[in-house]
Amino acid sequence: MKNQPTAVRLDSVTRSFGKPSEAVTALDAVSLTIPRGSFTAIMGPSGSGKSTLLQCTAGLDRPTAGRVFLGDTDLTVLSERKLTLLRRERIGFVFQAFNLLPALTAEQNVALPLRLAGRRPARTEVRAVLERVGLGDRARHRPGELSGGQQQRVALARALVTRPEVLFADEPTGALDSQTGREVLTLLRAMADAGQTVIMVTHDPVAASYADRVVFLADGSVRDELDDPAAEQVAARMTALAVVPC
Ligand code: ADP
Ligand code: MG
Repeated sequence: MKNQPTAVRLDSVTRSFGKPSEAVTALDAVSLTIPRGSFTAIMGPSGSGKSTLLQCTAGLDRPTAGRVFLGDTDLTVLSERKLTLLRRERIGFVFQAFNLLPALTAEQNVALPLRLAGRRPARTEVRAVLERVGLGDRARHRPGELSGGQQQRVALARALVTRPEVLFADEPTGALDSQTGREVLTLLRAMADAGQTVIMVTHDPVAASYADRVVFLADGSVRDELDDPAAEQVAARMTALAVVPC
């Protein structure tokens, strides 16, 4: 893992909101390097900057200062149009809410990003991704005919169909029961083991324990990191963070 090329690099990223006189600093000079093929969990108390970090890293928001690199591309200098294309072609997302289109079948939902990119997806291509997430036999089902865990796996297939360099997940198990959540986490782990870079925001120490590394944020800064985390260790660090006076 250590010798892998870099997937993502944040170089002193600051993001503040509001007028300079009363600005809230959501991220305060955060620097972070994420190796290709690694699974990183971002944790921290509510308001610590997790979502802002994810949004700036994924090109959904722009830092006030600092640079964000995806591979060799500096996102902070791209035009809106180039950034939109980059998100479409090089980045995948899954969220807590599955955000599937209810009128479309699983395979139609998965094919959507390819259609948006102006391609006519081959059925075999879409089926192959559905099979990767264990839903080869559910291709013709609509979201309403699938369980929560299955819907999240469709969302995962949709995020992966464009072969993104980085998969971002914001609380991907937040709406799932723990057993189903574990199935999704096992899948994310397997994808990282197969070379997919995964960056996940979570507040759940068990979810974080599936990652290679946990990055702890507090008050917009990286306060701590943990390699090969065990759930109990993660929980202890979180407790320590919550009681540190800021
Ligand atoms: P987390 O995801 O860890 O809960 P966020 O990244 O959402 O934290 O927020 C970090 C800080 O930045 C909070 O104080 C939040 O109120 C503030 N913040 C986030 N987004 C905005 C925004 N669009 N406008 C103003 N303040 C914001
Ligand atoms: Mg958040």
